[in-house]
Amino acid sequence: MKNGLTIDLNGQVALVTGASRGIGAAIARTLARCGCHVIVNYRVNKVLAEGVVDSIKASGGSAEAKGFDVIDANAARDAIKDIAGTHGRIDILVNNAGVSKDGLILRTREVDLDNMLGTALKGSFFCTSNVIRYMLKNHYGRVINITSVVGLGGNAGQSAYSAAKASLVGFTKSAAKELAGRGILVNAVAPGFIDTDMTAGIDKGKLLDIIPIGRVGRPEDVAGVVAFLCSELCSYITGQVIVVDGGLYM
Ligand code: NAP
Repeated sequence: MKNGLTIDLNGQVALVTGASRGIGAAIARTLARCGCHVIVNYRVNKVLAEGVVDSIKASGGSAEAKGFDVIDANAARDAIKDIAGTHGRIDILVNNAGVSKDGLILRTREVDLDNMLGTALKGSFFCTSNVIRYMLKNHYGRVINITSVVGLGGNAGQSAYSAAKASLVGFTKSAAKELAGRGILVNAVAPGFIDTDMTAGIDKGKLLDIIPIGRVGRPEDVAGVVAFLCSELCSYITGQVIVVDGGLYM
């Protein structure tokens, strides 16, 4: 008998949006370690995305970079059609691409509201609606939406961002109900404070007092949970939001 429990996703194809850096890059690397061929999506940072692909290949994994803006419905449709045409399948979609711009309600500009809502909700919606065409054919798929603890509990100065991330919770639960009978599980992961470019301007020292585990999260902390949700270990969970925040939000 083989000892140890591993996550084996060999032969599966995973699309991770916004994987040129931060949490998405860690998810791409982790899914590749589990055996997936990973499509590393980016919006503008092609060089960084190719760096993620190179690091995956250097570790013996398989990946490719694919640039498209998730807000652009036609670009998302064409890119996903292209991926499915090349690989014949897409088993995993991680809707990770996101942008944040903090601001009080009175100071939030429409352009920023549109960008946050568009990237989170429209981007995830467009990618999901295109990817599930292929998942439905295989009667198998895993969709993971990356939301945020502020989408659950709110935060002063983050009304637009919180609303954008909260929209993903409703989307996750409805999609889960719509697709469960077709073999497609849809869950969300809600990170707390994770050390990435998005949180670069935040004074991490002050956060340590309010995070029970006593440290800021690493992108890999989120990636491990995504890998679990994509695995056979998780075949009876759908429509859930898994919080990964060191105990911040209870
Ligand atoms: P990040 O370091 O700022 O990286 C954002 C990623 O999203 C980049 O790869 C970026 O691509 C991509 N992206 C942005 N807009 C896009 C678009 N329209 N189309 C395609 N890709 C796009 O962010 P992060 O901290 O890793 O956050 C990743 C996700 O976790 C986001 O959804 C965020 O809301 C969520 N989250 C983060 C935290 C945190 O503490 N960091 C906490 C809770 C939730 P380019 O490099 O090409 O611009």
